Amino acid sequence: MHLARAAEDLPPFHHGVFVPTMGALHAGHAALIRHAAALAAPKQLPVVVSIFVNPTQFNDPKDLERYPRTLEADLEVCRAAGATCVFAPTVDTIYPPGGADRTSIRVPTLPPAATAPNLEDAHRPGHFAGVCQVCLRLFELVQPTRAVFGEKDWQQLAVVRAMTASEMPALEIIGHPTIREEGGLAMSSRNTLLMPQDRRRAPAMARALEEAGKHTDPAEAEQAAKRALLANRLVPEYVAVRDAATLGPVNMGSPARVLIAARSGSVRLIDNAIWPGFRLETTD
Ligand code: AMP
Repeated sequence: MHLARAAEDLPPFHHGVFVPTMGALHAGHAALIRHAAALAAPKQLPVVVSIFVNPTQFNDPKDLERYPRTLEADLEVCRAAGATCVFAPTVDTIYPPGGADRTSIRVPTLPPAATAPNLEDAHRPGHFAGVCQVCLRLFELVQPTRAVFGEKDWQQLAVVRAMTASEMPALEIIGHPTIREEGGLAMSSRNTLLMPQDRRRAPAMARALEEAGKHTDPAEAEQAAKRALLANRLVPEYVAVRDAATLGPVNMGSPARVLIAARSGSVRLIDNAIWPGFRLETTD
């Protein structure tokens, strides 16, 4: 496995399958890398993992400062999962100095999924501008044919899909199901920041998604999920049942998703799942 630090190191690894990450890798990331390796195997394409804590997508400077950084362990996860190259650039490689406030790299036009849903977009102003900016920059440097993203960040997946369709239509974006711990908590690099009692309460995120799935009315589903969160002292930021593709209001007949953001102590958690509500109604 090759460790690339500069853009000049990347050409031998162009046209491969790409997994962008911010490091602090866990079994969820490893599953994405293994999936990328399986996609790359038939044509022996490179498997590139990027590790870059992107400052422009953090709306809270404290969140950026305390984001876990574990490069040595990350390299081992990448190697074991089948990566051929890890791209771990410096901030100056991604955002060449010269532009004030990191404006030297353009921010692509944001798709409606990044501004309209009133979910992550509303609670983390500027977040998707940073995500789109860094993804486009990484795509231009790594030049992959396919890139794998986790369903854990459902709105991000929708945003990156839409942005890529207009900016780099030849690049295929592939979603991978969420990997969970035994109690149902979605794996996240931020889980390591949870205090012990908040860690014990955090699996209520998954319980809340299950509760939402028991109701056939979207508003009742949202209320049930909120109750499950509050009963476990998780503080909801939003609980929303939405059309899975547009993230707009649900439509009978189209796949729906329930999306949650909540705080457990000082740590912000997000999760989502299929919402089977309308289907439950038709099978009754
Ligand atoms: P991150 O470095 O945590 O921002 O995430 C890098 C990629 O891994 C993103 O595409 C995430 O959606 C994905 N990811 C993070 N956690 C999980 C998980 N538990 N299951 C599946 N994918 C994940």
